[in-house]
Amino acid sequence: MHPATIRALYRRLKAANPRPQSELEYSSPFELLVAVMLSAHTTDKSVNAATRRLFPLANTPQALLALGVEGVKPYLKSVGLYNAKSENLIGLCRRLVEHHGGQVPRDRAALEALPGVGRKTASIILNIVFGEHEIAVDTHIFRVANRTGLAPGRTPLAVERGLVARTPAEFKHDAHHWLLLHGRYVCTARAPACPSCLIADLCEYPDKTAGTPSGKASRGTSDERRRPRSRSRRAVAG
Ligand code: SF4
Repeated sequence: MHPATIRALYRRLKAANPRPQSELEYSSPFELLVAVMLSAHTTDKSVNAATRRLFPLANTPQALLALGVEGVKPYLKSVGLYNAKSENLIGLCRRLVEHHGGQVPRDRAALEALPGVGRKTASIILNIVFGEHEIAVDTHIFRVANRTGLAPGRTPLAVERGLVARTPAEFKHDAHHWLLLHGRYVCTARAPACPSCLIADLCEYPDKTAGTPSGKASRGTSDERRRPRSRSRRAVAG
Protein backbone atom coordinates (compact mmCIF):
# COMPACT_ATOMS: atom_id res chain seq x y z
CA MET A 1 0.00 0.00 0.00
CA HIS A 2 1.34 3.42 -0.94
CA PRO A 3 2.38 5.63 1.99
CA ALA A 4 -0.12 8.30 0.96
CA THR A 5 -2.90 5.69 1.00
CA ILE A 6 -1.81 4.51 4.44
CA ARG A 7 -1.97 8.06 5.70
CA ALA A 8 -5.44 8.52 4.21
CA LEU A 9 -6.60 5.26 5.79
CA TYR A 10 -5.51 6.30 9.27
CA ARG A 11 -6.93 9.79 8.81
CA ARG A 12 -10.34 8.30 8.17
CA LEU A 13 -10.17 5.93 11.11
CA LYS A 14 -9.14 8.83 13.30
CA ALA A 15 -11.91 11.11 12.03
CA ALA A 16 -14.48 8.42 12.84
CA ASN A 17 -13.06 7.74 16.31
CA PRO A 18 -10.59 10.40 17.49
CA ARG A 19 -9.85 8.79 20.87
CA PRO A 20 -10.19 5.02 20.57
CA GLN A 21 -10.00 3.12 23.83
CA SER A 22 -9.94 -0.43 25.06
CA GLU A 23 -13.26 -2.13 25.66
CA LEU A 24 -11.75 -3.77 28.71
CA GLU A 25 -12.67 -2.07 31.96
CA TYR A 26 -9.81 -0.96 34.23
CA SER A 27 -8.80 1.86 36.52
CA SER A 28 -5.06 1.29 36.95
CA PRO A 29 -2.11 -0.13 35.00
CA PHE A 30 -2.27 -3.27 37.12
CA GLU A 31 -5.98 -3.78 36.44
CA LEU A 32 -5.33 -3.36 32.73
CA LEU A 33 -2.50 -5.89 32.83
CA VAL A 34 -4.75 -8.41 34.55
CA ALA A 35 -7.65 -7.76 32.17
CA VAL A 36 -5.49 -8.13 29.06
CA MET A 37 -3.89 -11.29 30.40
CA LEU A 38 -7.34 -12.75 31.10
CA SER A 39 -8.64 -11.76 27.64
CA ALA A 40 -6.59 -14.35 25.76
CA HIS A 41 -8.92 -16.68 23.83
CA THR A 42 -12.03 -15.10 25.30
CA THR A 43 -14.16 -11.99 24.87
CA ASP A 44 -13.68 -8.63 26.54
CA LYS A 45 -17.27 -8.94 27.73
CA SER A 46 -16.55 -12.11 29.71
CA VAL A 47 -13.41 -10.55 31.18
CA ASN A 48 -15.34 -7.46 32.26
CA ALA A 49 -17.97 -9.68 33.86
CA ALA A 50 -15.23 -11.32 35.92
CA THR A 51 -13.23 -8.23 36.86
CA ARG A 52 -16.34 -6.28 37.87
CA ARG A 53 -16.67 -8.77 40.70
CA LEU A 54 -13.00 -9.38 41.39
CA PHE A 55 -11.47 -5.87 41.37
CA PRO A 56 -13.72 -4.36 44.05
CA LEU A 57 -12.48 -7.16 46.31
CA ALA A 58 -8.82 -7.16 45.26
CA ASN A 59 -7.13 -4.96 42.67
CA THR A 60 -3.49 -4.97 43.72
CA PRO A 61 -0.87 -7.70 43.38
CA GLN A 62 -0.66 -8.01 47.14
CA ALA A 63 -4.41 -8.34 47.63
CA LEU A 64 -4.79 -10.94 44.87
CA LEU A 65 -1.81 -12.86 46.16
CA ALA A 66 -3.52 -13.04 49.54
CA LEU A 67 -6.60 -14.58 47.88
CA GLY A 68 -4.52 -17.30 46.24
CA VAL A 69 -5.39 -19.51 43.28
CA GLU A 70 -8.43 -21.11 44.88
CA GLY A 71 -9.61 -17.71 46.10
CA VAL A 72 -9.65 -16.12 42.62
CA LYS A 73 -11.07 -19.08 40.72
CA PRO A 74 -14.73 -18.47 41.57
CA TYR A 75 -14.43 -14.95 40.12
CA LEU A 76 -12.88 -16.09 36.85
CA LYS A 77 -15.42 -18.71 35.86
CA SER A 78 -16.85 -16.51 33.09
CA VAL A 79 -13.42 -16.49 31.48
CA GLY A 80 -12.21 -19.29 29.23
CA LEU A 81 -9.37 -21.47 30.57
CA TYR A 82 -9.99 -20.07 34.02
CA ASN A 83 -8.05 -22.77 35.84
CA ALA A 84 -4.82 -21.98 34.01
CA LYS A 85 -5.52 -18.24 34.13
CA SER A 86 -6.06 -18.38 37.90
CA GLU A 87 -2.63 -19.99 38.29
CA ASN A 88 -1.08 -17.42 35.97
CA LEU A 89 -2.76 -14.52 37.75
CA ILE A 90 -1.36 -15.49 41.12
CA GLY A 91 2.06 -16.23 39.59
CA LEU A 92 2.00 -12.83 37.92
CA CYS A 93 1.14 -11.11 41.21
CA ARG A 94 3.90 -12.97 43.03
CA ARG A 95 6.49 -11.94 40.46
CA LEU A 96 5.35 -8.31 40.51
CA VAL A 97 5.65 -8.23 44.29
CA GLU A 98 8.97 -10.07 44.46
CA HIS A 99 10.72 -8.43 41.48
CA HIS A 100 9.04 -5.11 40.76
CA GLY A 101 7.84 -3.70 44.07
CA GLY A 102 4.24 -4.46 43.11
CA GLN A 103 4.46 -2.14 40.08
CA VAL A 104 3.85 -2.88 36.40
CA PRO A 105 7.30 -2.70 34.77
CA ARG A 106 8.02 -0.50 31.77
CA ASP A 107 10.17 -3.11 30.11
CA ARG A 108 9.23 -5.66 27.47
CA ALA A 109 11.46 -8.46 28.79
CA ALA A 110 10.20 -7.96 32.34
CA LEU A 111 6.58 -7.97 31.16
CA GLU A 112 7.01 -11.07 29.03
CA ALA A 113 8.62 -12.86 32.00
CA LEU A 114 5.31 -12.57 33.89
CA PRO A 115 3.17 -15.73 33.85
CA GLY A 116 0.48 -15.57 31.18
CA VAL A 117 2.00 -12.50 29.50
CA GLY A 118 3.24 -12.77 25.93
CA ARG A 119 4.36 -10.32 23.29
CA LYS A 120 0.86 -9.07 22.50
CA THR A 121 -0.04 -8.31 26.11
CA ALA A 122 3.33 -6.65 26.70
CA SER A 123 2.83 -4.46 23.61
CA ILE A 124 -0.62 -3.39 24.78
CA ILE A 125 0.72 -2.41 28.21
CA LEU A 126 3.68 -0.53 26.75
CA ASN A 127 1.33 1.27 24.37
CA ILE A 128 -1.58 2.16 26.64
CA VAL A 129 0.11 2.54 30.01
CA PHE A 130 3.46 3.98 28.98
CA GLY A 131 2.55 5.67 25.70
CA GLU A 132 5.11 3.80 23.65
CA HIS A 133 4.57 3.37 19.92
CA GLU A 134 3.92 -0.36 20.04
CA ILE A 135 1.26 -1.97 17.84
CA ALA A 136 0.05 -5.23 19.32
CA VAL A 137 -1.30 -7.63 16.71
CA ASP A 138 -4.25 -9.83 17.58
CA THR A 139 -6.42 -11.91 15.26
CA HIS A 140 -8.48 -8.88 14.15
CA ILE A 141 -5.51 -6.70 13.38
CA PHE A 142 -3.76 -9.56 11.60
CA ARG A 143 -6.80 -9.93 9.32
CA VAL A 144 -7.25 -6.22 8.62
CA ALA A 145 -3.56 -5.63 7.93
CA ASN A 146 -3.49 -8.50 5.44
CA ARG A 147 -6.80 -7.80 3.70
CA THR A 148 -6.25 -4.11 3.24
CA GLY A 149 -2.62 -4.47 2.18
CA LEU A 150 -1.60 -2.17 5.01
CA ALA A 151 0.99 -4.62 6.34
CA PRO A 152 0.75 -8.09 4.79
CA GLY A 153 2.51 -10.87 6.65
CA ARG A 154 2.29 -14.56 7.41
CA THR A 155 2.80 -14.27 11.13
CA PRO A 156 1.65 -11.79 13.78
CA LEU A 157 5.25 -10.71 14.30
CA ALA A 158 5.72 -10.04 10.58
CA VAL A 159 2.51 -7.99 10.53
CA GLU A 160 3.56 -6.13 13.67
CA ARG A 161 6.89 -5.20 12.13
CA GLY A 162 5.16 -4.08 8.95
CA LEU A 163 2.70 -1.93 10.87
CA VAL A 164 5.38 -0.34 13.01
CA ALA A 165 7.47 0.41 9.92
CA ARG A 166 4.62 1.81 7.82
CA THR A 167 2.39 3.59 10.30
CA PRO A 168 3.16 7.32 10.45
CA ALA A 169 4.32 8.40 13.91
CA GLU A 170 1.28 10.59 14.50
CA PHE A 171 -1.01 7.52 14.24
CA LYS A 172 1.11 4.96 16.05
CA HIS A 173 -0.29 5.44 19.51
CA ASP A 174 -3.87 4.68 18.48
CA ALA A 175 -3.27 2.34 15.53
CA HIS A 176 -3.81 -0.78 17.64
CA HIS A 177 -7.28 0.25 18.76
CA TRP A 178 -8.40 1.62 15.39
CA LEU A 179 -7.43 -1.55 13.58
CA LEU A 180 -8.76 -3.83 16.30
CA LEU A 181 -12.17 -2.13 16.39
CA HIS A 182 -12.31 -2.08 12.60
CA GLY A 183 -11.64 -5.81 12.50
CA ARG A 184 -14.02 -6.60 15.33
CA TYR A 185 -17.01 -4.64 14.04
CA VAL A 186 -16.57 -4.01 10.29
CA CYS A 187 -13.91 -6.16 8.67
CA THR A 188 -15.13 -9.29 10.39
CA ALA A 189 -13.73 -12.72 9.59
CA ARG A 190 -16.77 -14.23 7.88
CA ALA A 191 -18.69 -11.30 6.49
CA PRO A 192 -16.72 -8.07 6.13
CA ALA A 193 -19.07 -5.12 5.70
CA CYS A 194 -17.29 -3.80 2.62
CA PRO A 195 -20.20 -1.82 1.15
CA SER A 196 -20.37 0.34 4.27
CA CYS A 197 -16.67 0.30 5.13
CA LEU A 198 -15.20 3.78 5.42
CA ILE A 199 -11.87 2.70 3.92
CA ALA A 200 -13.27 0.50 1.13
CA ASP A 201 -11.84 2.65 -1.67
CA LEU A 202 -8.37 2.44 -0.11
CA CYS A 203 -8.49 -1.26 0.74
CA GLU A 204 -6.73 -3.67 -1.60
CA TYR A 205 -8.68 -6.80 -0.64
CA PRO A 206 -9.68 -8.50 -3.91
CA ASP A 207 -12.70 -10.32 -2.46
CA LYS A 208 -14.70 -7.45 -1.04
CA THR A 209 -18.31 -8.32 -0.23
CA ALA A 210 -21.01 -6.85 -2.41
CA GLY A 211 -24.15 -5.08 -1.25
CA THR A 212 -27.56 -6.69 -1.29
CA PRO A 213 -30.04 -5.64 -4.03
CA SER A 214 -31.24 -2.92 -1.65
CA GLY A 215 -27.77 -1.50 -1.73
CA LYS A 216 -26.97 -2.50 1.84
CA ALA A 217 -24.29 -4.89 2.99
CA SER A 218 -25.48 -8.43 3.46
CA ARG A 219 -24.23 -8.34 7.05
CA GLY A 220 -22.66 -5.79 9.30
CA THR A 221 -22.94 -2.04 9.44
CA SER A 222 -20.60 0.87 9.64
CA ASP A 223 -18.12 1.68 12.39
CA GLU A 224 -20.23 4.52 13.62
CA ARG A 225 -23.38 2.47 14.01
CA ARG A 226 -21.85 -0.61 15.57
CA ARG A 227 -18.88 0.48 17.60
CA PRO A 228 -19.85 0.44 21.28
CA ARG A 229 -18.66 3.26 23.45
CA SER A 230 -15.50 2.57 25.36
CA ARG A 231 -16.21 1.48 28.87
CA SER A 232 -12.74 1.96 30.28
CA ARG A 233 -13.26 3.53 33.63
CA ARG A 234 -10.37 5.85 33.01
CA ALA A 235 -7.45 6.00 30.72
CA VAL A 236 -4.08 5.66 32.36
CA ALA A 237 -0.93 7.41 31.21
CA GLY A 238 -0.21 7.81 27.56
S1 SF4 B 1 -13.33 -2.93 2.33
FE1 SF4 B 1 -13.93 -4.90 3.21
S2 SF4 B 1 -12.05 -6.11 3.31
FE2 SF4 B 1 -11.44 -3.94 3.06
S3 SF4 B 1 -11.16 -3.17 5.17
FE3 SF4 B 1 -13.25 -2.70 4.57
S4 SF4 B 1 -14.45 -4.42 5.35
FE4 SF4 B 1 -12.30 -5.09 5.29
